[in-house]
Amino acid sequence: MNSYDVAVIGSGPGGYVAAIRCAQLGMKTAIIEKYNTLGGTCLNVGCIPSKALLDSSHHYEDAVKHFKDHGIDIPGDVKVNLEQMIARKQAVVDQTTSGIDFLMNKNKIDVYHGMGSFKDSTHIKIEGEETTEIEAKSTIIATGSKPGNLPFINIDKERIITSTEALKLKEIPKHLIVIGGGVIGLELGQVYRRLGSEVSIVEYMDRIIPTMDSGLSKELNKVFKKAKFKINVSHKVKSVERNGDNVVVKADNKKGEEVVFEGDYCLVSVGRRPYTDGLNCEAAGVALNDRGQVEVNEHLQTTASNIYAIGDVVKGAMLAHKAEEEGVFVAEILAGQKPHINYNLIPGVVYTWPEVASVGKTEEELKESGIAYKAGQFPMRALGRSRASMDIDGFVKILADKETDEVLGVHMIGARCADLIAEAVTAMEFRASAEDISRMSHAHPTYTEAIKEAALAATDDRALHI
Ligand code: FAD
Ligand code: NAD
Repeated sequence: MNSYDVAVIGSGPGGYVAAIRCAQLGMKTAIIEKYNTLGGTCLNVGCIPSKALLDSSHHYEDAVKHFKDHGIDIPGDVKVNLEQMIARKQAVVDQTTSGIDFLMNKNKIDVYHGMGSFKDSTHIKIEGEETTEIEAKSTIIATGSKPGNLPFINIDKERIITSTEALKLKEIPKHLIVIGGGVIGLELGQVYRRLGSEVSIVEYMDRIIPTMDSGLSKELNKVFKKAKFKINVSHKVKSVERNGDNVVVKADNKKGEEVVFEGDYCLVSVGRRPYTDGLNCEAAGVALNDRGQVEVNEHLQTTASNIYAIGDVVKGAMLAHKAEEEGVFVAEILAGQKPHINYNLIPGVVYTWPEVASVGKTEEELKESGIAYKAGQFPMRALGRSRASMDIDGFVKILADKETDEVLGVHMIGARCADLIAEAVTAMEFRASAEDISRMSHAHPTYTEAIKEAALAATDDRALHI
């Protein structure tokens, strides 16, 4: 039987990063993955393929709607070749997942393909093409998550689908009904809206992206409505039925009236659930909490002292970069170091266009906790860079402590905000004040100037270009 210092179960961004860091720190490391390809949800059916389709559909939309304004005439009709679009997405996925094979090899990490389950706290059975068993002094559970569902919905994966199927459809839906106006619903909803589907979003809460700052919800709602999304907030879905090639979704609106949606596809995107099926946690003494997550302490240690858990399978945001930070954190703990994660500074991004990005506290959270703050906001349309690219929607908002001027939250929506948010994370990690940001030179003309201007606005209402 092969013995290891560390075994990692699951090869998503949490697991494979944990394995690399363990190997870097001199531990003999194994990684176990039940599928044939490494990379987990993120690389195979999550972050990477969804961004590939967002990029392709964005190019299509530009060609159809915006090239003319830029003085580019395309003779004849611009058409979508969905088969090629999906094939390109898959090529990106394949290239990215094979990159993880390379990294495992480079770091001398033993890869086992098969379902891992605990025999006890130091032995793991792996059932793949053959069944084998390994011994590990420590184990990191990184088994991730699966799409969530509502108890009354039968997801048939043909017409009533999750994000996994939405990433490989064979036709463009005529009418896609999206249950859940969160990250997946909006990103994949935008892909198909751009390709010509009618898209109806049915959201339970009173706004889309309801966990983000409400200013962002409002602006994205405005842009999506302009793009003719049908957005139905405060709607409680009560039934989803398939009739041949049609799907009927019934919901109650705020007034308690029944609203019926009829479409040809229904995407269920109401959150994801932690995945521990078949892991046999009990045999190792690893407890789950009442939400089905692996219970961990502040060191991400489970109720079995030599077993740790990271990523989507534990509490906190279900984000690839959060899982990665936790992977590094646990590896360093195992090496006897004292790492730290500032969960308040894990940014959240929605890759729609305009992109939406956030870090730190929202205005709602600051109000709720009674923290006195000031806000500075700057509209993207006031930037020369935005006018040059015709990406004029959105704004940057900086929230700073009223007394100390320390930046407490940054919320932005606009072109390239997914990348711009890194400046806010860096500033907040170094506990910058709004004035600090406002006194730093930002290259002109760039979208980053909106951050400087919002910081000026928060400092003393000193924005220069509005
Ligand atoms: P996962 O990536 O889920 O990996 C877990 C792995 O463990 C899987 O490969 C699974 O097969 C394996 N496994 C499970 N049980 C066993 C077992 N018993 N034995 C062996 N192997 C096992 N996040 C972002 O930050 N940015 C994005 O843009 C983004 N886009 C997304 C888009 C979509 C459509 C989806 C669905 C998710 C997206 N996410 C995004 C979320 C992101 O994918 C997850 O937060 C991230 O993958 C979590 O990483 P993880 O390592 O915890 O788990
Ligand atoms: P989510 O939590 O972002 O959104 C789910 C939405 O469904 C919420 O707005 C919620 O109010 C709504 N909802 C819940 N029950 C409902 C009901 N009965 N009827 C109508 N609406 C209902 O979850 P998601 O979009 O499914 O994404 C799952 C996870 O994947 C998220 O945690 C997210 O962090 C991650 N993800 C991240 C990215 C990214 O970082 N860009 C992209 C995709 C997914």
